[in-house]
Formats: sequence, C-alpha cells, structure tokens
Amino acid sequence: MQIYYDSAKAKEIETKILEKFREGNQNRTKIHLSDFCYCPMKVFNRLIGMESMNLEDIAGLLMVGNVGQELIQILYPEEWAEWEDESILPSHVDLLEDGKVPLEIKWSSSKVTRSSDIKKSWVKQLMSYMAIHRSNIGWMLIMNLTTRRFTAWKIIIDDDEIENLRLTMEMFRDNTYEAVKIYLDGEVEKALAMMEIELTEDQVYECKWCNSRPGRKRTRLGLKGLGCPKYLNKKGLETQLRQVRF
Ligand code: SF4
Repeated sequence: MQIYYDSAKAKEIETKILEKFREGNQNRTKIHLSDFCYCPMKVFNRLIGMESMNLEDIAGLLMVGNVGQELIQILYPEEWAEWEDESILPSHVDLLEDGKVPLEIKWSSSKVTRSSDIKKSWVKQLMSYMAIHRSNIGWMLIMNLTTRRFTAWKIIIDDDEIENLRLTMEMFRDNTYEAVKIYLDGEVEKALAMMEIELTEDQVYECKWCNSRPGRKRTRLGLKGLGCPKYLNKKGLETQLRQVRF
C-alpha cells in the first residue's frame, strides 16, 4: 500500500467549495437578515459592487456548516426545513419547528458553557428570525468542534422586543439602500456619514481581522490601497468609486 499527500486534490475541492459559495454570494443584490447582525459596512461594500473577499481560510468551515445544517434538517419533517421569508429582509432559517419556532445550528471552536459565552451576533440573528416569524421562543444548537458535543439553548423574547427588532431591521434596510444609492450617485462622504450608525455590542466593526480593510494582503478587488471605504482617503475613495461604477 502507498499513501501520498496530495495538496492538489485538497486545493481542487477547496476551489469547488469556494466557487459554489461565490456563485451564491454574487447573486446577493439585496440586504439579507444576516447582514443586519454584523458590521454594516460589509453589506454596504457588497452592494456598491466590491467583489467577494478571498475566502480560502474558511472553506473547511463552510463545508462543516452546510453538512451540519443538512443533518439537522433530515431529523425533522421536510416541511420545517429552510424556511424562506421576504417580508422585511430576505432570510432563511435552518429549521422552523411546527412552522413557527426558529431553530439555528452553529459551530464553535471555543467552549460554550454559559449563555454569556454565546456570540452576540448569533443571538441577534436568532432573535431576528424570531421577530420575523413573530415567535417568542427560539432554539440554538451549538456544536463544539473540539469536544464534538452539542448544547441546546432556548431564547425567549417578549412582544415589545419583537416589534422593536422588526422596526430596527426596517430602518437598517432603508438607510443602507439609500446610502448605497447616494454613494453610487457620487456623494461619497454623505453616504459614508449615513453608514456611521451607532453600533450595538453585537454589531461591532471587526476591522482588525477583516479582509476588506485596505492594506491587508487579501483586500477585496485585489487592488493595493483600495478596500473598505471607511478607511480610504479622498483620492482612494475617488479611485474606488470609478472601479465600482464601471
Ligand atoms: S474593514 Fe471594518 S468597517 Fe470595513 S467592512 Fe471590514 S469590519 Fe467593516
């Protein structure tokens, strides 16, 4: 028997996973519910036409995430899986129990033993699904990649929280579409000022690790010096605007 390490095969599969992901991402011309839970500049950048970032380092995670999602879905009735909703922001939840209660599965490499260990953006995402489906209850399954055990968490919100979240999502959607329109019309500074919204604890800028930050090795657009407009000077903004418009 002979066993060879074959980096070309791993690369071939990684490329296929990323192509598939990019395909889906390129068709994302709308603001989705998940965009509401992270740095607001990420969706702004996507909508002004910046290419998807280089994702080589997360191909494995994409694979694990999709397999886990499909596994959980086959455990329940088919009609509960992948509920899509377009009412406020396009969204699809992993599972909607009884057609009413959202259930999301997440993967973590760190221990989650207390509710405070759960990522705020995950909680916000699940609460947003709950608000969309007007459910006071939601479930989160968290699979620990190290221990290979999962934990289940129940989240409860009241009717006022549901209404507030629905309103905030609508405001975020309308503000971002308007800012993108203004940016593409050439009023760059006004557009960026509109995106300077006060971030909540669960919606912080992740600039330190973000591939869109200018100067990073894998800046979007692949052009040195360009990237997230939040970090560009006047000249960079003008150059970038020409790139994204034509
Ligand atoms: S560089 Fe910072 S502000 Fe820009 S998209 Fe990335 S995380 Fe958001």
